[in-house]
Amino acid sequence: MIEVRLPDGSVKKYDVGVSLAQIAQDAGRRDALVAKVNGELRDLTARLDQDAAVEFLAFDDPEGREVYWHSSAHLLAQAVKDLFPEAKLAIGPPIDEGFYYDINIGRPFTPEDVERIEAHMRELAKRDQPIERVEIPREEAIRTYGTMGEKYKLELLDEIPDARVSFYRQDGFMDMCRGPHLPRTGLINAIKLLSTSGAYWRGDEHRDMLSRIYGVTFPSQEQLDEFLQQLEEAKRRDHRRLGKELKIFAFAQELGQGLPLWLPRGATVRRILENYITDLELQRGYHHVYAPDLASVELYKISGHWDYFRESMYPPMQVDNEELVLKPMNCPHHIMIYKQEQRSYRHLPVRIAELGRMYRYERSGTLAGLQRVRSMTLNDAHIFCRPDQVKAEFAAVVGLIQDVYRDFHISDYRLDLSLHDPKDRQYYHQDEELWKAAEGLLREALDELGLAYHAVIGGANFYGPKLDVQVHTATGKVETLSTIQLDFLLPRRFELEYIGEDGKAHRPVMIHRAIISTMERMMAFLIENYAGDFPAWLAPEQARILPIADRHLEYAHKVRDRLAGEGLRVEIDDSNERISYKVRRGQLERVPYMLVAGDKEAQSGQVAVRSRSAGDLGAVPIEQFLERIRHEITSKA
Ligand SMILES: [Zn+2]
Ligand SMILES: [Zn+2]
Repeated sequence: MIEVRLPDGSVKKYDVGVSLAQIAQDAGRRDALVAKVNGELRDLTARLDQDAAVEFLAFDDPEGREVYWHSSAHLLAQAVKDLFPEAKLAIGPPIDEGFYYDINIGRPFTPEDVERIEAHMRELAKRDQPIERVEIPREEAIRTYGTMGEKYKLELLDEIPDARVSFYRQDGFMDMCRGPHLPRTGLINAIKLLSTSGAYWRGDEHRDMLSRIYGVTFPSQEQLDEFLQQLEEAKRRDHRRLGKELKIFAFAQELGQGLPLWLPRGATVRRILENYITDLELQRGYHHVYAPDLASVELYKISGHWDYFRESMYPPMQVDNEELVLKPMNCPHHIMIYKQEQRSYRHLPVRIAELGRMYRYERSGTLAGLQRVRSMTLNDAHIFCRPDQVKAEFAAVVGLIQDVYRDFHISDYRLDLSLHDPKDRQYYHQDEELWKAAEGLLREALDELGLAYHAVIGGANFYGPKLDVQVHTATGKVETLSTIQLDFLLPRRFELEYIGEDGKAHRPVMIHRAIISTMERMMAFLIENYAGDFPAWLAPEQARILPIADRHLEYAHKVRDRLAGEGLRVEIDDSNERISYKVRRGQLERVPYMLVAGDKEAQSGQVAVRSRSAGDLGAVPIEQFLERIRHEITSKA
């Protein structure tokens, strides 16, 4: 007999060789897709021959979903091989949302092909075939794939040193795979193939061009429908499309990948964001600085970035007798600013802030609109304080984050407090007392603020604990928007000091923090969250005057001058188009207010107001409109 311990603490006795599927059934876990045995993922078809802690994962578990989607990729490959026996299979992993398979049929798949494949996947799933794991000698695998001409699989096999190789078999179809997998294809109920694209074998442009088919599957049709609806919504809000349509930013091939250009309208919004956050920081005792984009590699050798962060940095350039790199982080520069003066305990905390431009190497495949770029500007700051000030400084930054989120109407977020893992002595430096004290302070501060948080053991940086604010975006994603990170290490590496009350030198603690992320990410986030409809305080063009005919142009200019004189961002549509066309264009360009000016308005000193959100508001005196929009701007409605 063996003992099986379940997550609820219960222990059950079984005969040696009992299958995990049997244990799941006994535990009433009909939703189980895969098991975790002593922390390791295993097929439900696997059998136990010794005592073990067993946990079952369903579709709701990220790991369970991964197995579900990975098994769906196998089903896709099986369907393709049935319909295109000459197809050569490459790889088929699960991804964040679904799965793909790279396949070569000597030409791209047509939409009709994809439809047939999807229908055939449904048929195969309905047959509810068992999925079995088989292990065969490596030589045999090479022979089999050799006969089939599966050249990509052979190449993959080449890299597997093991004497035996595992395969997964469903019906007659076998695919080399480490697993684990679902026990049956019948668990895959709702299937949708989403798109196809070209993909080089191994991402290498000198090698074969393969066809990648993307798909997604769910246990129920309702889940699939909901997913597809969300996908539509995400497309509608996609900042890459909207950013182009609304002339916010652009990329140019001649300029290089991942290097965005901020167009005038985008630059306007960015300037408002930058002024907004800078003003808030100045009010809260931050000092704003500027540092150059280039720095000696020596600086990053001291900071440790050269050792730990080098693959994200651009290679150094030799200039005279210096080696320079593009700045990937602002921290060392702010440290240099701290070191410009002898600091006493009375001077602390010192809060140094910068809209700091940084350059980071991101692989071209990961670049995505403004979301992931190679040149970015971070709303960065570093606070240097005494150990007894850490809690108050941390709480003040949390307060700043709350104020900012109120202005942006961000209410759907979660606080992740990342702590060290006392068992991981390799990664975390060993001053257990220091860790405990620092983490205790952060917990206390959050408790005193009455904020609920989610503790992530082992999520801390090696240099200290941190708080990440995870925001739920309008497109259903979770993003880290703000972060506060304690750092005990850099002050030591740079030998930072302040003179204490006792007249002796002490080491300050450093806090890295970013409130509105990089300007690039914040812009992507805002475009998607507002679906392009920037509120009046952020809108690049707050109002547009639409003269009905040329004879109203003079009045239109008078109105413009009055509004612009009040600091509003106003344009005139002086084109020859009909008024209905001008209104339509203003709507497409998401202008919050359109002010129609015709004979009646010119005579009475009024404008006919059309609001983006409230529709037609009728004719009002200019001063009345001014009051309305001023209120909207100051309240950030
Ligand atoms: Zn697999
Ligand atoms: Zn930093």
